[in-house]
Amino acid sequence: MEVNSTATILSSAFLAVEYVDAVLPDNPLQPSLQYAWGYVNENYTKFQIATWGSLIVHEAIYFLFCLPGFLFQFLPFMQKYKIQQDKPETWEKQWRCFKMLLFNHFCIQLPMICGTYHFTEFFSIPYDWDSMPRWPYLLAQCLGCAVIEDTWHYFLHRLLHHRSIYKHIHKVHHEFTAPFGMQAEYAHPAETVILGSGFFIGIMVFCNHVTLLWAWVAFRLLETIDVHRYTHTHTHTVNTANTPFSLFVEKCISTLLTTTRGLQLSLTVVLWSDHQGSAALPACCSLV
Ligand SMILES: [Zn+2]
Repeated sequence: MEVNSTATILSSAFLAVEYVDAVLPDNPLQPSLQYAWGYVNENYTKFQIATWGSLIVHEAIYFLFCLPGFLFQFLPFMQKYKIQQDKPETWEKQWRCFKMLLFNHFCIQLPMICGTYHFTEFFSIPYDWDSMPRWPYLLAQCLGCAVIEDTWHYFLHRLLHHRSIYKHIHKVHHEFTAPFGMQAEYAHPAETVILGSGFFIGIMVFCNHVTLLWAWVAFRLLETIDVHRYTHTHTHTVNTANTPFSLFVEKCISTLLTTTRGLQLSLTVVLWSDHQGSAALPACCSLV
Protein backbone atom coordinates (compact mmCIF):
# COMPACT_ATOMS: atom_id res chain seq x y z
CA MET A 1 0.00 0.00 0.00
CA GLU A 2 2.78 2.37 1.04
CA VAL A 3 4.85 1.39 -1.99
CA ASN A 4 1.86 1.98 -4.27
CA SER A 5 1.18 5.46 -2.90
CA THR A 6 4.88 6.37 -3.20
CA ALA A 7 4.88 5.15 -6.80
CA THR A 8 1.75 7.22 -7.51
CA ILE A 9 3.35 10.35 -6.04
CA LEU A 10 6.52 9.79 -8.05
CA SER A 11 4.67 9.19 -11.31
CA SER A 12 2.53 12.31 -10.69
CA ALA A 13 5.68 14.32 -10.02
CA PHE A 14 7.22 12.90 -13.20
CA LEU A 15 4.16 13.90 -15.26
CA ALA A 16 4.13 17.38 -13.68
CA VAL A 17 7.80 17.84 -14.57
CA GLU A 18 7.21 16.65 -18.14
CA TYR A 19 4.28 19.05 -18.46
CA VAL A 20 6.22 22.06 -17.11
CA ASP A 21 9.15 21.19 -19.36
CA ALA A 22 6.85 20.92 -22.39
CA VAL A 23 5.26 24.36 -21.89
CA LEU A 24 8.54 26.16 -21.24
CA PRO A 25 10.18 27.76 -24.28
CA ASP A 26 13.41 26.21 -25.55
CA ASN A 27 16.54 27.44 -23.83
CA PRO A 28 18.08 29.89 -26.34
CA LEU A 29 21.53 29.27 -24.84
CA GLN A 30 21.36 25.51 -25.35
CA PRO A 31 23.28 25.37 -28.70
CA SER A 32 26.06 27.56 -27.24
CA LEU A 33 26.20 25.48 -24.08
CA GLN A 34 26.34 22.27 -26.11
CA TYR A 35 29.18 23.66 -28.23
CA ALA A 36 31.09 24.86 -25.14
CA TRP A 37 30.59 21.54 -23.38
CA GLY A 38 31.80 19.63 -26.46
CA TYR A 39 34.83 21.91 -26.75
CA VAL A 40 35.81 21.35 -23.12
CA ASN A 41 35.39 17.57 -23.45
CA GLU A 42 37.50 17.42 -26.62
CA ASN A 43 40.31 19.65 -25.40
CA TYR A 44 40.72 18.74 -21.76
CA THR A 45 41.17 15.48 -19.93
CA LYS A 46 38.64 14.21 -17.42
CA PHE A 47 41.13 14.94 -14.65
CA GLN A 48 41.47 18.56 -15.76
CA ILE A 49 37.70 18.99 -16.04
CA ALA A 50 36.97 17.37 -12.66
CA THR A 51 39.77 19.16 -10.80
CA TRP A 52 40.50 22.52 -12.39
CA GLY A 53 36.99 22.87 -13.80
CA SER A 54 35.47 22.29 -10.37
CA LEU A 55 37.92 24.73 -8.76
CA ILE A 56 37.10 27.45 -11.31
CA VAL A 57 33.36 26.84 -10.91
CA HIS A 58 33.66 27.06 -7.12
CA GLU A 59 35.79 30.23 -7.10
CA ALA A 60 33.73 31.99 -9.77
CA ILE A 61 30.39 31.23 -8.14
CA TYR A 62 31.59 31.96 -4.61
CA PHE A 63 32.95 35.42 -5.34
CA LEU A 64 30.19 36.24 -7.85
CA PHE A 65 27.53 35.55 -5.22
CA CYS A 66 29.48 37.56 -2.63
CA LEU A 67 29.88 40.52 -4.98
CA PRO A 68 26.45 42.17 -4.51
CA GLY A 69 26.78 42.16 -0.71
CA PHE A 70 30.34 43.52 -1.02
CA LEU A 71 29.26 46.32 -3.35
CA PHE A 72 26.29 47.33 -1.18
CA GLN A 73 28.65 48.88 1.39
CA PHE A 74 29.64 51.50 -1.21
CA LEU A 75 26.08 52.38 -2.19
CA PRO A 76 24.60 55.05 0.11
CA PHE A 77 20.98 54.17 -0.70
CA MET A 78 21.59 50.56 0.41
CA GLN A 79 22.86 51.54 3.87
CA LYS A 80 19.40 51.69 5.39
CA TYR A 81 19.01 47.95 4.75
CA LYS A 82 22.08 47.00 6.78
CA ILE A 83 20.98 45.01 9.79
CA GLN A 84 23.67 46.03 12.29
CA GLN A 85 24.13 49.73 11.68
CA ASP A 86 26.58 50.08 14.57
CA LYS A 87 28.98 47.48 13.14
CA PRO A 88 30.36 48.67 9.80
CA GLU A 89 32.17 46.25 7.51
CA THR A 90 35.81 47.26 7.79
CA TRP A 91 38.54 46.69 5.20
CA GLU A 92 40.67 45.03 7.84
CA LYS A 93 38.01 42.38 8.57
CA GLN A 94 37.23 41.78 4.93
CA TRP A 95 40.89 41.45 3.99
CA ARG A 96 41.48 39.01 6.86
CA CYS A 97 38.46 37.03 5.70
CA PHE A 98 39.67 37.03 2.11
CA LYS A 99 43.13 35.72 3.05
CA MET A 100 41.66 32.91 5.15
CA LEU A 101 39.30 32.02 2.30
CA LEU A 102 42.14 31.74 -0.19
CA PHE A 103 44.06 29.49 2.20
CA ASN A 104 41.01 27.28 2.77
CA HIS A 105 40.07 27.15 -0.90
CA PHE A 106 43.51 26.28 -2.23
CA CYS A 107 45.15 24.36 0.60
CA ILE A 108 42.17 22.45 2.07
CA GLN A 109 39.38 22.32 -0.50
CA LEU A 110 41.54 21.83 -3.61
CA PRO A 111 43.06 18.54 -2.31
CA MET A 112 39.50 17.40 -1.53
CA ILE A 113 38.37 18.42 -5.02
CA CYS A 114 41.22 16.31 -6.47
CA GLY A 115 39.34 13.24 -5.22
CA THR A 116 36.40 13.95 -7.52
CA TYR A 117 38.23 12.68 -10.61
CA HIS A 118 38.95 9.33 -8.94
CA PHE A 119 35.36 9.20 -7.73
CA THR A 120 33.96 9.72 -11.24
CA GLU A 121 36.37 7.13 -12.67
CA PHE A 122 35.60 4.55 -10.00
CA PHE A 123 31.84 4.83 -10.49
CA SER A 124 32.05 5.42 -14.28
CA ILE A 125 30.29 8.80 -14.01
CA PRO A 126 29.85 10.17 -17.57
CA TYR A 127 31.01 13.59 -18.77
CA ASP A 128 29.35 13.70 -22.20
CA TRP A 129 26.54 16.00 -23.34
CA ASP A 130 24.07 13.27 -24.36
CA SER A 131 23.86 11.61 -20.95
CA MET A 132 23.55 14.90 -19.07
CA PRO A 133 20.38 14.91 -16.92
CA ARG A 134 17.72 17.47 -17.77
CA TRP A 135 17.27 20.44 -15.43
CA PRO A 136 14.30 19.09 -13.37
CA TYR A 137 16.29 16.01 -12.45
CA LEU A 138 19.38 18.04 -11.60
CA LEU A 139 17.20 20.22 -9.40
CA ALA A 140 15.66 17.18 -7.67
CA GLN A 141 19.14 15.70 -7.14
CA CYS A 142 20.32 19.01 -5.63
CA LEU A 143 17.37 19.00 -3.23
CA GLY A 144 18.21 15.43 -2.22
CA CYS A 145 21.86 16.42 -1.68
CA ALA A 146 20.69 19.41 0.40
CA VAL A 147 18.61 17.27 2.75
CA ILE A 148 21.49 14.83 3.27
CA GLU A 149 24.14 17.53 3.67
CA ASP A 150 22.01 19.57 6.00
CA THR A 151 21.34 16.58 8.25
CA TRP A 152 25.10 15.99 8.42
CA HIS A 153 25.68 19.67 9.03
CA TYR A 154 23.05 19.84 11.77
CA PHE A 155 24.63 17.17 13.96
CA LEU A 156 28.26 18.09 13.29
CA HIS A 157 27.58 21.80 13.85
CA ARG A 158 25.94 20.97 17.18
CA LEU A 159 28.95 18.86 18.08
CA LEU A 160 31.34 21.68 17.14
CA HIS A 161 29.46 23.88 19.61
CA HIS A 162 30.14 21.48 22.45
CA ARG A 163 31.86 23.50 25.13
CA SER A 164 34.92 21.25 25.24
CA ILE A 165 35.75 21.61 21.54
CA TYR A 166 34.13 24.89 20.52
CA LYS A 167 37.14 27.06 21.31
CA HIS A 168 39.52 24.81 19.38
CA ILE A 169 37.74 24.78 16.01
CA HIS A 170 34.36 26.44 15.52
CA LYS A 171 35.16 29.68 17.37
CA VAL A 172 37.00 30.88 14.27
CA HIS A 173 33.81 30.78 12.20
CA HIS A 174 31.96 32.95 14.74
CA GLU A 175 34.78 35.49 14.98
CA PHE A 176 32.83 38.15 13.12
CA THR A 177 29.81 39.24 15.12
CA ALA A 178 28.42 41.20 12.19
CA PRO A 179 28.95 38.66 9.42
CA PHE A 180 28.83 39.21 5.70
CA GLY A 181 28.32 36.81 2.79
CA MET A 182 32.03 36.33 2.10
CA GLN A 183 32.42 34.89 5.59
CA ALA A 184 30.39 31.78 4.68
CA GLU A 185 33.51 29.63 4.30
CA TYR A 186 35.62 31.53 6.84
CA ALA A 187 36.43 28.68 9.17
CA HIS A 188 39.13 26.66 10.85
CA PRO A 189 40.76 24.23 8.36
CA ALA A 190 39.51 21.28 10.45
CA GLU A 191 35.96 22.61 10.19
CA THR A 192 36.33 22.94 6.42
CA VAL A 193 37.12 19.22 6.32
CA ILE A 194 34.52 18.12 8.91
CA LEU A 195 31.54 20.09 7.59
CA GLY A 196 32.79 20.11 3.99
CA SER A 197 32.78 16.33 3.79
CA GLY A 198 28.97 16.41 4.13
CA PHE A 199 28.94 18.02 0.69
CA PHE A 200 30.14 14.79 -0.92
CA ILE A 201 27.64 12.40 0.69
CA GLY A 202 24.76 13.46 -1.54
CA ILE A 203 27.09 13.28 -4.54
CA MET A 204 27.90 9.67 -3.69
CA VAL A 205 24.19 8.85 -3.48
CA PHE A 206 22.78 10.72 -6.48
CA CYS A 207 25.59 11.44 -8.94
CA ASN A 208 24.94 10.08 -12.44
CA HIS A 209 26.74 12.82 -14.37
CA VAL A 210 29.59 15.20 -13.60
CA THR A 211 27.26 18.21 -14.02
CA LEU A 212 25.60 17.38 -10.70
CA LEU A 213 28.87 18.29 -8.98
CA TRP A 214 28.76 21.79 -10.39
CA ALA A 215 25.00 22.24 -10.04
CA TRP A 216 25.24 21.18 -6.39
CA VAL A 217 28.21 23.51 -5.77
CA ALA A 218 26.15 26.43 -7.16
CA PHE A 219 23.05 25.44 -5.17
CA ARG A 220 24.93 25.04 -1.89
CA LEU A 221 27.02 28.21 -2.24
CA LEU A 222 23.98 30.32 -3.07
CA GLU A 223 22.27 29.05 0.06
CA THR A 224 25.21 29.41 2.45
CA ILE A 225 26.26 32.87 1.25
CA ASP A 226 22.69 34.10 1.42
CA VAL A 227 22.29 32.66 4.92
CA HIS A 228 25.46 34.36 6.18
CA ARG A 229 24.38 37.71 4.85
CA TYR A 230 21.38 37.70 7.17
CA THR A 231 22.76 35.87 10.17
CA HIS A 232 21.53 38.38 12.67
CA THR A 233 17.96 38.19 11.56
CA HIS A 234 17.93 34.78 13.20
CA THR A 235 19.65 35.50 16.48
CA HIS A 236 18.70 34.22 19.88
CA THR A 237 17.21 30.99 18.68
CA VAL A 238 18.01 27.63 20.16
CA ASN A 239 18.81 26.10 16.79
CA THR A 240 22.47 25.77 16.13
CA ALA A 241 21.84 25.68 12.41
CA ASN A 242 18.84 27.31 10.90
CA THR A 243 19.32 27.08 7.22
CA PRO A 244 15.97 26.28 5.57
CA PHE A 245 16.71 22.58 5.45
CA SER A 246 18.09 22.55 8.99
CA LEU A 247 14.81 23.94 10.22
CA PHE A 248 13.08 21.08 8.44
CA VAL A 249 15.56 18.60 9.93
CA GLU A 250 15.14 20.14 13.36
CA LYS A 251 11.38 19.85 13.05
CA CYS A 252 11.63 16.17 12.10
CA ILE A 253 14.08 15.48 14.89
CA SER A 254 12.06 17.26 17.54
CA THR A 255 8.93 15.38 16.41
CA LEU A 256 10.78 12.10 16.75
CA LEU A 257 12.32 13.00 20.07
CA THR A 258 9.08 14.01 21.66
CA THR A 259 7.39 10.67 21.02
CA THR A 260 8.48 9.15 24.31
CA ARG A 261 9.05 10.67 27.71
CA GLY A 262 12.61 9.34 27.90
CA LEU A 263 13.52 10.96 24.64
CA GLN A 264 11.73 14.14 25.66
CA LEU A 265 14.08 14.27 28.61
CA SER A 266 17.12 13.90 26.38
CA LEU A 267 15.90 16.80 24.22
CA THR A 268 15.55 18.91 27.36
CA VAL A 269 19.10 18.01 28.38
CA VAL A 270 20.43 18.97 24.94
CA LEU A 271 18.62 22.31 24.97
CA TRP A 272 19.64 22.96 28.57
CA SER A 273 23.28 22.20 27.82
CA ASP A 274 23.12 24.65 24.90
CA HIS A 275 21.97 27.37 27.27
CA GLN A 276 24.61 26.44 29.82
CA GLY A 277 27.24 26.61 27.13
CA SER A 278 26.01 30.01 26.04
CA ALA A 279 29.49 31.45 26.45
CA ALA A 280 30.51 29.13 23.68
CA LEU A 281 27.32 29.80 21.77
CA PRO A 282 27.27 33.38 20.58
CA ALA A 283 24.13 34.88 19.12
CA CYS A 284 25.26 34.35 15.56
CA CYS A 285 25.73 30.63 16.13
CA SER A 286 22.15 30.20 15.08
CA LEU A 287 23.64 29.78 11.65
CA VAL A 288 26.25 27.80 9.88
ZN1 LIG B 1 28.08 27.76 14.94
